[in-house]
Formats: sequence, C-alpha cells, structure tokens
Amino acid sequence: MAENTIPVQDSVALRRALIEAVAVCLIDHVDELSELDRAIGDGDHGLNMKRGFEEILSRLDELAEKPWPEALKAGGMALVMKVGGASGPLYGTAFMSLGKALPAEVDPATFSAALTEAVAAVKTRGKSDAGQKTMLDVLIPLADQLAAGDWSLEAIRSRTAESAQATVPMLATRGRASFLGERSVGHMDPGARSSQLIVEAVCEVLEGQR
Ligand code: ADP
Ligand code: MG
Repeated sequence: MAENTIPVQDSVALRRALIEAVAVCLIDHVDELSELDRAIGDGDHGLNMKRGFEEILSRLDELAEKPWPEALKAGGMALVMKVGGASGPLYGTAFMSLGKALPAEVDPATFSAALTEAVAAVKTRGKSDAGQKTMLDVLIPLADQLAAGDWSLEAIRSRTAESAQATVPMLATRGRASFLGERSVGHMDPGARSSQLIVEAVCEVLEGQR
C-alpha cells in the first residue's frame, strides 16, 4: 500500500476502530453541533447524532464482525430507526446506500464509486443538491475529490474543512435553516460540520494505519 493512499481493508480490527472513532467523535461534539443548529435550526443536531451513534457504539462488536457492505447497511438502518429529524434518514440513507453499492472487495476505486452513489441517494432523499447549505456541501466535494483520484488524507482533510467553512456565507434553501431566509447566512451548517467530523475521524484512524 503506497503512502498517501487510503487503506480500505476488510479487517474486523480496522472496521471496529473506524466505527468507534466516528461514533466517539460525533458524541464528543454534541454541544458544538447543537450550538450550530441553535443558530439556524432547532438546536437538536448534536443530540440527534449522539442518540444515533450511541446506538451504533452499543452494537460495535456486532457491526465490526460484518463485512463492510453489511456493517454499513446495518449501521445506516440503526440511524434511520433511532434518529428523528432530517439528519437520521439522510445519514441513514447515505450509509445504507454506501453499503449496497460496495462490493465485498473494497478498494479505493470501488469505495469512490459507492460514495458517489450514496451521495446521489442523499440528493434524491433530501430533494437537495450542492449550494443549499447542507451536509451535501461537504459530501459532494468529497465524492468528487475521491472520484478524481485524490486520495491524500491531508488533502481530504483540508478540502473537507474548507467545504464545511464554505457553508457559512451560503443561504439555506433546504431543511429548517431555509425557514430563516437571509438570517441563515453567516453560520456554518450543522450537518456540514457533522459530515466533516465523520471524515476527520476516518482520516485520523487511517493515518494511524500507515
Ligand atoms: P432537523 O433539521 O430535522 O432538526 P438535524 O438538526 O438533526 O435535523 O439535522 C439538520 C441538518 O440536516 C442540516 O444542517 C443539513 O445539513 C441537513 N439537512 C436538512 N435537510 C436536508 C436536505 N433536504 N438535504 C440534505 N441535507 C439536509
Ligand atoms: Mg435540528
């Protein structure tokens, strides 16, 4: 495995580390995510993520034992069942679609293609697209970056941070924040931030694998 590429192996230990890191990271940021959502939504995004990912953590051993496609489908289903609000069905759709689109043999190319399909499924579910100040403003550039073959973990982290930051000046036209109209401008989208946190957590684990 060359330096600067993403090792997506089907090992129980790596799967456990990745799932746990994502869940712990989101749970640790409960206050920040809810604070962002208080500014342009109803203040529950942190708690929504916490509820969903505490369920994932409680099933960590069971999920890590499954191959990636099954683990992602089961994890996504858990989010749909446990999380109210827009983000539960949307993240649930993202992870379930990723699981459905991934073949048993995961490599950077198959992961990238599956992520593109998962992002398309979120667009369909949310009737949303780029530029509307949502999680898609992080997920679409990420899928595009991977599809373009840029697998440097540093580049992924910095691009994702830029994408989340770029939602600050956007006008929300989807989700609760859209009810605020112009007053949605000047705040980071909470779902864009949670998507960035997920990417950060994954990159941190993969960097430790090198
Ligand atoms: P709710 O808005 O129901 O309170 P959350 O607060 O948990 O749910 O999640 C809000 C986040 O969900 C937003 O910050 C945004 O990123 C994302 N979101 C909301 N609606 C959509 C949509 N139609 N398409 C994509 N993402 C959306
Ligand atoms: Mg909310």
